[in-house]
Amino acid sequence: MSKNKSSESVKVVVRCRPLSRKEEANVSSAGSIVDMDLRLGQVVLRNPRAPPSEPQKTFTFDAVYDGNSKQRDLYDESVRPLIDSVLAGFNGTIFAYGQTGTGKTHTMQGAWMDPDQRGVIPNAFDHIFTHISRSQSDRQYLVRASYLEIYREEVRDLLDPNHSGARALELRESPDTGVYVRDLTSCVCKSVKEIEEVMNVGNQVRAVAATDMNEHSSRSHTLFLITVECSQPGPDGRKHIRVGRLNLVDLAGSERQAKTGVRGERLKEAAKINLSLSALGNVISALADGRSGHVPYRDSKLTRLLQDSLGGNARTVMVATLGPAPQHYDETLTTLRYANRAK
Ligand code: ADP
Ligand code: MG
Repeated sequence: MSKNKSSESVKVVVRCRPLSRKEEANVSSAGSIVDMDLRLGQVVLRNPRAPPSEPQKTFTFDAVYDGNSKQRDLYDESVRPLIDSVLAGFNGTIFAYGQTGTGKTHTMQGAWMDPDQRGVIPNAFDHIFTHISRSQSDRQYLVRASYLEIYREEVRDLLDPNHSGARALELRESPDTGVYVRDLTSCVCKSVKEIEEVMNVGNQVRAVAATDMNEHSSRSHTLFLITVECSQPGPDGRKHIRVGRLNLVDLAGSERQAKTGVRGERLKEAAKINLSLSALGNVISALADGRSGHVPYRDSKLTRLLQDSLGGNARTVMVATLGPAPQHYDETLTTLRYANRAK
């Protein structure tokens, strides 16, 4: 795999949310520490503890989005081409990576009812079904959706109504379909309305099962999986089938989990969350480097599950989310470094 080809298949974009009301009201903090040059795709980070003479840190990405950016612009510029390639039969993955509270879920889901606030997932639903409705009549599409989460390195089905007591599902591998989750629910969806309903059901199952939703969502990865199958008669008169798979991933919070004083179960859990994020960083950076030799997919459930959707002909977009407040300088720098490694 040549360097150029592989780095084209991984795109890294950074999005910074606006200061929250609370952050704005905090007089001791001196505004935003993140500056962006949208044209150059640059992020400049200011260390609030450093003397003004210290040089600021600058990072360059495929695109950057500031606090004024529109959901729609991020979709059209950075996500749309990936969805088009899924519709053409390739695999694609979109990740939201970042500290809790920086806008991962806002970016992936947003506010469903407000047309301006709809995130990547509802926009992708519209895109897919609009494409299908406009396609030639000899093409037949089959869209299926699954929804799962990975919590403490265990895979759980969010479309299984018995989720709260549900067993962890196993990963399997077959020569035909590659890595898959055994017994995972898969729903055929014929419209935007139906696939939105599937997502709603999963979100509710998740909310009911979690005792503390904020804490739970910062510690688990969710994956909404859409499979688009297209069959069309070929020149030989036989049916040709293309299958594209789209993974929409809202990752666990990237903040350091192991705070001092955490022991036992909590420490083990923390180690597992960090493990799959660092395994993902290693896989993406190996792919971005074009080091085709060894890509360490097997190091975590998440990377193993996404093995057939990362690398090769597949496309990846990582959206790294940041907050602009001075008190999060260290986490913000860590996020920028992680994103930088993935380019
Ligand atoms: P995360 O999923 O990373 O923990 P959220 O998506 O829940 O973070 O965002 C935290 C808060 O910040 C929410 O109230 C959300 O609406 C708000 N927010 C996040 N990103 C933006 C943005 N780009 N513009 C406006 N508000 C945002
Ligand atoms: Mg979230």
